[in-house]
Amino acid sequence: MRDNHLHTHFSYDSDASFEDYLTHYDGEIVTTEHYDLSNPYTGRDDVPDYEAYSKEIAELTARYGKRIKRGIEIGYYQPREADLISFLADKIYDLKLLSVHHNGTNDYLDDEVAGMDKEAIIQEYLDALEYAIGRVEADVLAHFDYGFRLFDVTVDELKAYEPQLLRIFQKMIDYNLAFELNSKSMYLYHHEDLYLYALDLVKQLGCHKYSIGSDGHKREHFRLEFDRIQIILNKYGIKPEEII
Ligand SMILES: [Zn+2]
Ligand SMILES: [Zn+2]
Repeated sequence: MRDNHLHTHFSYDSDASFEDYLTHYDGEIVTTEHYDLSNPYTGRDDVPDYEAYSKEIAELTARYGKRIKRGIEIGYYQPREADLISFLADKIYDLKLLSVHHNGTNDYLDDEVAGMDKEAIIQEYLDALEYAIGRVEADVLAHFDYGFRLFDVTVDELKAYEPQLLRIFQKMIDYNLAFELNSKSMYLYHHEDLYLYALDLVKQLGCHKYSIGSDGHKREHFRLEFDRIQIILNKYGIKPEEII
């Protein structure tokens, strides 16, 4: 099981090197570098340097063998959709994650978001996420809970959004996106119960495409809690061939 959500120094918020991961694990890795336009956290467009990324992967492939796949985490932001699509048009990636990270004013992990109205933020985020699916080509719907990672949300509270969650997950399936189990959300933001609830919903809708990612930005988080995730996959009857 490959870690399908991972960052290096090609992401604005990571200092990790490919070798941090390559020397820690002998299988295949894929890095999914942040692509966030109009990022309120940095006040600029954060774009992974495609040429430098390709060059470094070519050099490391000569040393470590063909163990490195190329990826990107697309932070969808509707006002910049045209720019986003034009950047991606001539680039080749093995794996594309679709995310919603910000609303133009705040990244959903900004400290000040924690003091905002929980229900309003969840609603705003889910609306943006529902819209984003299908607007750009991607392989994985990343961290469905990103907009409310900072909040303690119970399964009962999330159930209030169940009709919309079902629409989101159905759209995800219709566009052939995998459902991501994000171990950082599950075990560092304590949202495991929300993920188990979401798994019930996606299974009910007939989802057969899953992706497992640590969302690691450093070696310590690479393949975070993958043993626990494997137990969940077994319990939910998710087969290896359903995992991308
Ligand atoms: Zn993300
Ligand atoms: Zn990420």
